[in-house]
Amino acid sequence: MKPKMRRRPISYDTLERVRLLLVEDDAPLATVIERGLVEEGHAVDRSGTVADATEHLRLNEYDLIVLDLGLPDGDGVDLCRTVRSSADPGAAATPILMLTARDGIADRVQGLDAGADDYLPKPFAYPELAARVRALLRRPKATASPILEVGDVTLDPAAHTVLRGAIMVPLTAREFSLLDYLMRHADEVCRREQLLDHVWDANYDGLSNVVDVHIANLRRKLDLPGADDPIETVRGVGYRMNRSGTAT
Ligand code: CA
Repeated sequence: MKPKMRRRPISYDTLERVRLLLVEDDAPLATVIERGLVEEGHAVDRSGTVADATEHLRLNEYDLIVLDLGLPDGDGVDLCRTVRSSADPGAAATPILMLTARDGIADRVQGLDAGADDYLPKPFAYPELAARVRALLRRPKATASPILEVGDVTLDPAAHTVLRGAIMVPLTAREFSLLDYLMRHADEVCRREQLLDHVWDANYDGLSNVVDVHIANLRRKLDLPGADDPIETVRGVGYRMNRSGTAT
């Protein structure tokens, strides 16, 4: 197996320089924001589209995302949901400051409901953005890492523990990530390629049945006599965990 491209782990406790992703399609505005943040000593990656931002997020870990709501190829709200449903608990907890030109409370509520930590209506003065960025960077990340529950399976991302009912289930790191991803996408079919991309990475070129092998191990470890299999096989597509229990 060749070495994998890993997310760059960054902690602003140990590094003075924080890394930000700026997603804004208004180039003059993006330039002003970028210049300001760089002057404050931050590393800034810049994206003008949802597609480009998604690629940046796949390759890097950020300390904060400044996210415009209206983008040429999609909606910042959707990108926000994507970040929050990330299989990597650290990435899923990345603070998000949403920029919105839209009026009205509904859009702001929608942004906050999708997982934005704060929003800033346009037009704004740069010092206000800088102040909000500082405030978000001071917040501990762990608060955005809630315990996941699907059926009688409980996963605690912070403690890195899994329970089936009241029984502790020891898992390998990979099995843990796989279960975490399935639980964050409960009631959705997770395709094999999707699991490979998110739990392994897009450059994985090992065994083609690696997902099935790990699912089999997970099932064996989660098995309780008399209880349903918590992971449903969707034939020819992938796997799904159901909040209402597995239809067998
Ligand atoms: Ca825009």
